[in-house]
Amino acid sequence: MRIIDYTNASVEDIYGSLSFNDKTMREWLPKSIYKEVKAVQFGEQELTLEVAEVVASAMKDWATQKGATHYTHWFQPLTGLTAEKHDSFISPVGDGTVIMEFSGKELIQGEPDASSFPSGGLRATFEARGYTAWDTTSPAFLKEQGGDLTLCIPTAFVSYTTEALDKKVPVLRSGEALSKQAMRILKVMGNTTTKRIVTTAGPEQEYFLIDKDYYDERPDLQLTGRTVFGKLPAKGQELDDHYFGAIKEKVAGFMKELNFELWKLGISAKTQHNEVAPHQYEIAPIYAATSVAVDSNQLVMETMKKVATRHGLAALLHEKPFAGVNGSGKHNNWSIGTDDGQNLLEPGDDPRSNARFLLFLAATIKAVDTYAPILRASASNAGNDHRLGANEAPPAIISIFLGDQLTEIVEAIAAGKPVPGRSGEKMEIGVTTLPKLPMDMTDRNRTSPFAFTGNKFEFRMVASSQSIAGPNVVLNTTVAEVLSVFADRLEKASDVNAEIQAICKETFNECKKVIFNGNGYSEEWVAEAEKRGLPNITATVYALPEYIKPDSVAIFEKHKVLSKKELESRVSVYMEKYSMQINIEASMMVEIANKMIFPAGNEYAADLAAGINGLKSAGAKTVPTAQLEVLEDVVNALNCLKDESDKLKDVLEAVNAIEDETEQAVAFKERVFTQMAVLRECGDDLEPIIGRDYWPLPTYEDMLFRMG
Ligand code: ADP
Ligand code: MG
Repeated sequence: MRIIDYTNASVEDIYGSLSFNDKTMREWLPKSIYKEVKAVQFGEQELTLEVAEVVASAMKDWATQKGATHYTHWFQPLTGLTAEKHDSFISPVGDGTVIMEFSGKELIQGEPDASSFPSGGLRATFEARGYTAWDTTSPAFLKEQGGDLTLCIPTAFVSYTTEALDKKVPVLRSGEALSKQAMRILKVMGNTTTKRIVTTAGPEQEYFLIDKDYYDERPDLQLTGRTVFGKLPAKGQELDDHYFGAIKEKVAGFMKELNFELWKLGISAKTQHNEVAPHQYEIAPIYAATSVAVDSNQLVMETMKKVATRHGLAALLHEKPFAGVNGSGKHNNWSIGTDDGQNLLEPGDDPRSNARFLLFLAATIKAVDTYAPILRASASNAGNDHRLGANEAPPAIISIFLGDQLTEIVEAIAAGKPVPGRSGEKMEIGVTTLPKLPMDMTDRNRTSPFAFTGNKFEFRMVASSQSIAGPNVVLNTTVAEVLSVFADRLEKASDVNAEIQAICKETFNECKKVIFNGNGYSEEWVAEAEKRGLPNITATVYALPEYIKPDSVAIFEKHKVLSKKELESRVSVYMEKYSMQINIEASMMVEIANKMIFPAGNEYAADLAAGINGLKSAGAKTVPTAQLEVLEDVVNALNCLKDESDKLKDVLEAVNAIEDETEQAVAFKERVFTQMAVLRECGDDLEPIIGRDYWPLPTYEDMLFRMG
């Protein structure tokens, strides 16, 4: 049942029809209140209960008129998913009738009984209740579920003592930190008009689509998001035209509806086929202020799953659903903008905007170089361990791609030499203009984890299933830190231009090692990066502790983004999450090995043996060697499967008994995860040697090359 009738609706009618966005607010709020809400959004004033009352009432009218009966404070606990607790607008009056009510207080604050969400010890004491607080920076929206519409209010989730319990709070705090420091720079450079700085994010999301029927027959995909057994067919990744046509039809239907659903929420995106792996796709949204982009990306992921089911498909967001096939990531496009429409990472046409560009470029390069380990940590999860630093590309080394032309400029500035492309002139920042940088110089290198793409940076390590909150928090905080150091110097300088020149020269010299324009997927690069002294952190369990090293704690605390305690709680939650994930995967493997693969192999072996005996008793003169050989191979693989799954079970038991959280997570990585690879090989060896009809699971060939 559709609550709102979209028959004959134009895209304009559909777009944002379920979003209490700026346009809706203009329509539904008195002008004076609208202005106040904007001022609150911009951090210029505090929200008063009076304003909240009016907004709540308008929101309720707007929502109920569309058919909503419930509202919820929508928040993002550290699980990486979203959570909601529904409350009804309906309020009995006493005479047997009801009215629809929603107060300002209910809009501003909620107290979900969310004690089961991980807090990493922050809520151990009884008074540490959790509260949700309205995040005015991101629009409320209506969510359709089972024919019902619910008003969802984006909120931040904090403890009684205002410690962050979610992914959103640090996003907001780090945005403020960056704005504050960047404003200092603009001011000292003579800007008197800009009021605020906003970071922007546009996450390009990769995912797989497979037939839902196959998905339903793979308990590993359902429980862990990835296949724990399965062998890639020998024929490789080329698609047959017939299948490709059929896939296109079904997928086109999915994409059409996905776009439609996202438009309703006011999220505009481009869906496209990704040529890299079969059945892999990508969706690129229009970028937005980071807090909005964080919310939108969660909605994109949720909507994708929901819409896929309606089309008989399953959307896989895991970083590595299929071994041996390219995995999925999320490219987090990131930039810094001003409230008056300037992009601070865009090279300008005049000397002054060039100087600004070079300074913000220098700040970003230095932040990435200095804090590479925490940036790496922000992109880590159990799934991404199959990509970053595993045997396949991409590597876990953070480097920056600037493109040849910008690199030459940066190198010339560093060396105090004439800038290429200019007739022998030395670059005097703030006086000379930059040679024009063509926009297309940027996107040629797809192998760089951190690439400058014309007017933004693209952080490509982010995990496909992960919230983009963490990576953006680290980017905002580390760049804010470098900007604050620059601002300290500039505010004291007698000649600002000369000081900018000096800062850029120094920074570009210091950070040379992190700039790399070559093939980031090559083996030579790994060796070269080691020579350059760049960190290569190969797994989640080694990356996470970087968050709580003194240098990291110092900047998070200095910019009031996260306290030491909050950082520790996060690391604890993520470590535990990692352990839980590997525990589930390993248990799933043991189960599939023993309950599905072993019986299948055994049945095949028994049939083979019966066939051999049959031939013998029928009086066959020669021993049937072919059958005997196959039988022997099958029996060997079965023995391997049994032995290695027993070993995995034992290791699992031992590791589960470890008390210390970090020690346990490391053991899951070093002992359990490695044994899983051994067991997998036994199962994958068996698959091609037993009869197709015996194999108990949909194969890679089914899932990746067929669509019903
Ligand atoms: P394409 O790769 O299709 O040419 P772009 O490179 O312009 O498109 O954009 C790729 C992604 O980067 C999109 O999701 C887009 O929204 C995002 N993006 C573009 N500009 C910015 C910006 N200033 N800040 C953050 N993200 C941006
Ligand atoms: Mg791009």
